[in-house]
Parts: sequence; structure tokens; C-alpha cells
Amino acid sequence: MSLKPMPEMTEISKPFWQGLNEGEIRIQQCNACEGWVFYPRRHCTHCLSHDLAWKPVSGEGTLYSYTLTRIPTLPEFTDEMPQALAVVELAQGVRVNTTLVGLAEDEIQVGMALKPVLNQVDAKGNTLLRFTGADKSLESLPYVNPLGSLPRNEQGQVQVGVDNPAALQALVSDEYTEWSNRIVVDQELINTFAELSGDSYWIHTDPERAAKESPFGTTIAHGALVQILQSRLNFALPFEITGFQTMVNYGSDRLRFPAPVPAGSEIHARARVKSVQQSRKGTALTLEVNIYVVGNDRPSVVNELVILYR
Ligand SMILES: [Zn+2]
Repeated sequence: MSLKPMPEMTEISKPFWQGLNEGEIRIQQCNACEGWVFYPRRHCTHCLSHDLAWKPVSGEGTLYSYTLTRIPTLPEFTDEMPQALAVVELAQGVRVNTTLVGLAEDEIQVGMALKPVLNQVDAKGNTLLRFTGADKSLESLPYVNPLGSLPRNEQGQVQVGVDNPAALQALVSDEYTEWSNRIVVDQELINTFAELSGDSYWIHTDPERAAKESPFGTTIAHGALVQILQSRLNFALPFEITGFQTMVNYGSDRLRFPAPVPAGSEIHARARVKSVQQSRKGTALTLEVNIYVVGNDRPSVVNELVILYR
């Protein structure tokens, strides 16, 4: 995942972005008048026909215009200064907004011949289209995993400094940890929690009545109980955050109890980093923790925990 804002794929522009991810530059050509169209649209800009087809092109072109930004257009681009923002005219006549790479400032000339550079920007394969001089050997800019060069602790966790935004962002993942250890949520534990919390509603504490009247046929654990049992479920996070002064539990972005936990169930948990955001308050890491009854497809707890590092 890139820390930098990424283009949003729409239904119309999707073939362009997918093409880049597959190593191909595709632009639209009108079947009615053969005119080329870019940016991606529903209609031909030459004859208004809706009959457009995606065609692969070489991406060779010339520099139509450019500017060097010495003040970042967004804070996320600070590491790219100066940034060579450019408009490139492809051989087909269409113009593409892009950035130039691999060129010294005094090598950049309006009208110069350019060739495309496919720049993979994240581990998922998302690719952006940059350009460089036609005479340069640069062909592509591969993705460099910012976690790759970081040290590991004795548990094998990669150590990520709270001052390393690119590495923090690389922790965001769709993949969950391995399952945690399992624990049993029995009636005794539920009763103890009922006493502690003052919530002794019969659906939790009266097995005889629950057998007759509850839709679950038995008592179920309080959602809040299952939520806090997370502390007893140890899932192995693949990272350790370092270099902070304080770490606080900032609460939850989202807390849901989609499936019941009948008394006597075994539960386990897994987690993933859903997002990392930086603000004046500090670095907020959102850890999505899901707790399941063993064997269930639906989680019993979905908790998007926000941990604030300062
Ligand atoms: Zn047309």
C-alpha cells in the first residue's frame, strides 16, 4: 500500500489502470472515426460516438509541457522534491498528465522524445505511468518494500519506527495473522462477568430458561465479555512498533457482535492492520481484531481497535 494518494479506478478508467498493472499501456480508440481518446471516457471526443475500444500502444511520445515543483503539492510527496510534473503527448496525439523520472533538471526540454516507465508502487502490483528520456536505459521502477531493510526483534517481528511513515503504511494488509490460542467461554465465566458488570439478563445467566425460550437454545456470552477476552487470545503480529513515547488504547472505530457465543464455546481470534493514519494527535494504527467461535464462518466480535502512538 502506498502512502501517497492513488488514482481511483472507475468503471470507465479501469482498463487503463489494469493495463498498467499487467505491463501494458492501453488507450481508447474510436471505432467510428479512428480518433484516439485520453483520458478514459464513454464517448469519442472527435465524433461523439460511444463505440470506443481499448488498444495497446507503445507509450512513446514527446514532452508537451512540464513544471518542477519545489514545494510539495501534498505533504506525501515531500520525498520526491523537486517533482517534474509533465504533460506528455503520445504518438497518437493524446496528452497524459504524468511525472518524469530518471532525468536531471537540465536534461528536460519541451519537445524532447520520451518513453514510458512503468512504476509499481505497492506490493499488490498497482502501477503508475511515468516517463523518461527516449535515450535512457530505464525501463521500469519496481516496488521497493519499505519493510525489507528493517531490523527484526528476537521474535522475528519486523521493527517499524513510529517515524517511518512508508514502513507503517506497508503494514496495512488484507491478510490476517494466524489464529490465536483457543479458550473456552463457559457458564462460570459468563456468570462472573454478569456479576462484575451488573448485566444478569436471563439470556446470559439462566440456562434452564434459555433452553426453553432463547432462539439459541442455550445461554450466550455477553458481547462485551467476548470482546475483552481478546486480552487472553494471543495472535502473533508480524511487527513491533518502536520509537514512541506513549501508546494508548484510543477506542474503537467500529465494534460489532455479528454472531452469538453460546455457553461452552471455544473461541479464537486473528487480526490485521486495517489502516495507519498520521495526525496532530500522533500515529493511529487501526487493528482489526476478529473473534470467532471455532469452526464458525461469521465472527462473534469485529473490533477495529485504534492504537495511538505518540
Ligand atoms: Zn470518433
